[in-house]
Amino acid sequence: MLLWDTQCFVVLKIVPDISLPHTLTLEPIGVIRSCYQEKFGIPRQPGLTISARAQLELHGACNCPEAVVGLEQFSHIWIQFVFHQTLAEGWRPTVRPPRLGGEKRLGVFATRSTHRPNPLGLSLVKLESIHHEKGQVWLELSGIDLLDGTPVIDIKPYLPWADSQPDATAGFAPEPPETITVSWTEAALLQCRQAGQQLGQPFQQLVEEVLSQDPRPAYLKKRPREDYGVLLWGYNVRWKVKEEGFEVFSIDLAGGSYKES
Ligand code: SAM
Repeated sequence: MLLWDTQCFVVLKIVPDISLPHTLTLEPIGVIRSCYQEKFGIPRQPGLTISARAQLELHGACNCPEAVVGLEQFSHIWIQFVFHQTLAEGWRPTVRPPRLGGEKRLGVFATRSTHRPNPLGLSLVKLESIHHEKGQVWLELSGIDLLDGTPVIDIKPYLPWADSQPDATAGFAPEPPETITVSWTEAALLQCRQAGQQLGQPFQQLVEEVLSQDPRPAYLKKRPREDYGVLLWGYNVRWKVKEEGFEVFSIDLAGGSYKES
């Protein structure tokens, strides 16, 4: 049985054959404040949109500067987190990876699907800086694939000599996804630059990186719409499909939850 509330994540399992405790409690150590306020638009892995930034706010007993002493020596960290937004949807033994056009089924453990028996995610992200102010410790991250509000259950430093395997093979996803060319109308580019100044963020790069990943699910590619929208940093970014790629035609403030540092 899986229980979730905003305070803690509890996994209760009866494991008759294994001499483990029957109850394991995972309490989030913090929460993600991210540029991605909805799932649509988030790349399928970290590192694909390097301008995508987030703050990881530490919580409870972990919200103490001592817990992160030495972490600043690492350029990248692993974030273990809960797929909290898809938790209630459960899981199936097979899933349809978007990489295969949503047409072929594979075992859930052969994929990085969000719908898993234990809804835990793992992302390698860049650690930009660590802050401690007014009783709050937080980490500035980039290259993320995490939704705003994601509960984090652990942080580990990335060790290139142990964690990187240049000779590894990667089955049905051997290369990064193909990218799409992104262009702008004059008006949208102006709106984007103003928004970027307001946010203090590399907003134009973020929009271009996100759209170049083609966030549309397979079914929308087959039945294209007139236009599309994605929410980034509280701005509604709208674009059209053109012959040569995507064209951004408007950027409007829709309200956001990012806490500026
Ligand atoms: N890198 C992680 C992994 O391999 O475990 C996540 C991979 S998963 C395919 C990435 C997708 O998870 C994103 O495109 C986004 O749609 C979704 N996602 C991110 N944060 C989430 C959350 N808190 N709850 C549910 N889905 C989330």
